[in-house]
Amino acid sequence: MNALATLNYYFLRYRRYFGTGSLCVIISSLFGVFAPVLVRQIIDILPVLEALNRLGAWSAFEPALVGLRYVVLTGYSLMIVGVSLLSGLFLFLTRQTIIVASRHIEYDLRNRLFAHLERLGPEFYQRYATGDLMTRATSDIERVRLYVGPAIMYTARSATLALLALSMMLLISPTLTLYTLLPLPVLSGVIFLAARLVHERSEKVQAQYSRLSVRAQEALSGVRVLKAFAQETFEQEAFEREADAYRRRALELARIEAIFSPAMVFLIGLSSLIVLWVGGRYAIAGRLTIGNIAEFFIYLTLLTWPVASVGWILNMIQRAAASQERLLELLRYEPRKDTRSPEKGNIQGHFVLENVSFRYGPDRPWVLEGVNLEIRPGQYIAFVGPSGSGKSTLMRLLVRMYCPSAGRILLDGKPFEELDEEVLRAQIAFVPQEPFLFSETIAYNIAFGRPEATRAEIEQAARLAALDWEVFPQGLDTRVGERGITLSGGQRQRVMIARALIMQPRVLVLDDALSSVDLATEARIIGAIRAWRADRTLILVSHRIAAVQEADCIYYLEGGRIREMGRHEELLARGGAYSRMFRRQLLEAELESINGGDQGYRGP
Ligand code: ATP
Repeated sequence: MNALATLNYYFLRYRRYFGTGSLCVIISSLFGVFAPVLVRQIIDILPVLEALNRLGAWSAFEPALVGLRYVVLTGYSLMIVGVSLLSGLFLFLTRQTIIVASRHIEYDLRNRLFAHLERLGPEFYQRYATGDLMTRATSDIERVRLYVGPAIMYTARSATLALLALSMMLLISPTLTLYTLLPLPVLSGVIFLAARLVHERSEKVQAQYSRLSVRAQEALSGVRVLKAFAQETFEQEAFEREADAYRRRALELARIEAIFSPAMVFLIGLSSLIVLWVGGRYAIAGRLTIGNIAEFFIYLTLLTWPVASVGWILNMIQRAAASQERLLELLRYEPRKDTRSPEKGNIQGHFVLENVSFRYGPDRPWVLEGVNLEIRPGQYIAFVGPSGSGKSTLMRLLVRMYCPSAGRILLDGKPFEELDEEVLRAQIAFVPQEPFLFSETIAYNIAFGRPEATRAEIEQAARLAALDWEVFPQGLDTRVGERGITLSGGQRQRVMIARALIMQPRVLVLDDALSSVDLATEARIIGAIRAWRADRTLILVSHRIAAVQEADCIYYLEGGRIREMGRHEELLARGGAYSRMFRRQLLEAELESINGGDQGYRGP
């Protein structure tokens, strides 16, 4: 329940809505309990009217009596309708304030969560699946909204209505009220028990719903892989298993809810029976009027809703507490510190790595160990090595996506982690291994980091990245579909490169970002980027040595360590792992060209 206390801020923030809403609830309830009083009065007046009628029949008073009857009956009817209308009107105003406030709070919560999620680092996204986050951002927020809106409104209405109805009942007859309330302890017990069961079961429903969402989300986003491996039936069965578990849990919940309502109706019916039995005897003894009994019945009906809704509201509050806890779990996740430094300026791109080691978690194996290297401004540096040797990880450290677990990185002589985040993001451009495009136009995707870029700049970046946009139906204004699905792998990678180039970065880091284009194009793009601004630092990872042999320095990584380094010729002369890798690639290329494969190979 402590989780819900964190929402008090919002009650304060929207206090005007909640204040007005509470006032409207009280007024609506006051009118609500006043209607039975009118019913009692008219019922008690009826015998008087009837007696007068009998006395005055066939007398000179008859027309006056008819008029009186007409005025009294119509007057009371109009008053009852008027009072009910006013009660309804204020109930409408309650909804208009409290429910509206809950929508504002929902909006605030959603924006806060999204802003927070945007600031979280890659470690966070490694831990939480997208489907799980989607469930929290939608259905958990909705459950919290049900607490700050409907639950608060129904609590206020139930409490005032119950209080007023009970006061009126006590005024009429304290003993009859006590008799009527006899089933109440049993009722409270039933409600408490049911609320606990409902809470437990709805927790299970929600957890299963999250699992179902994750399954559906992954199957849909990976639908092509799924089809390529003909795993539709397997996936369908797995999905059905999750959906079936969800259905079973939802049915367990529905079963409890189904028992709960009839039990409530039965216990309330018991109270009506007591009113009829005890109240009837009091009326016969002359201690109460018939009108009082009718009034009592109406109060009992009015009480039904507050009593019946207690369990429901408790359940709503418990669900909201669990959901808010799930949201707080995300919000408590420490966002990466945005290093803001007053020193802006340009970076030169001089990296020094001193004994840098890295692992993806304290209980994970070391991915990089004791890496020492220096990259000077304007240099062209390449990293090669077998798969899993830590090349991508090193690139992620160079763009400060992660910080070293041991050792340190200096940029332009300053500790890397102290440099201004904005400056780094603007001046170090990173193209990761897997391209990610937004379902917008190609131009939008290229200008993503610089929305103010002109058309000419977008075209220049696209040209440098060797993106042949004329082949698309609407050129650069062609929409690329979800994640760029309508483009080829190589085209997607080139859009990503153009997106990095348009930032005019001082340092460009390409992590195997041209793996889907042929060797000749890869070498051409690298050449074009270098010729474009020779003073910029270019750091890249490639699996193809022939594409990077002109680098100022090539590092050969293996098992998270630098095994060899130097220029292409030096490394070849050494005859180590690098030259073996090169010879192997050369052989593969020759075999391919014999088989009519890659025509673009340039040779050593
Ligand atoms: P490739 O050439 O295949 O892209 P690489 O040399 O770039 O490989 P990395 O991607 O840096 O290698 O991976 C190095 C090691 O770190 C691998 O053993 C991999 O399992 C592990 N690793 C990579 N990313 C993560 C991650 N996000 N969480 C945990 N471990 C990771």
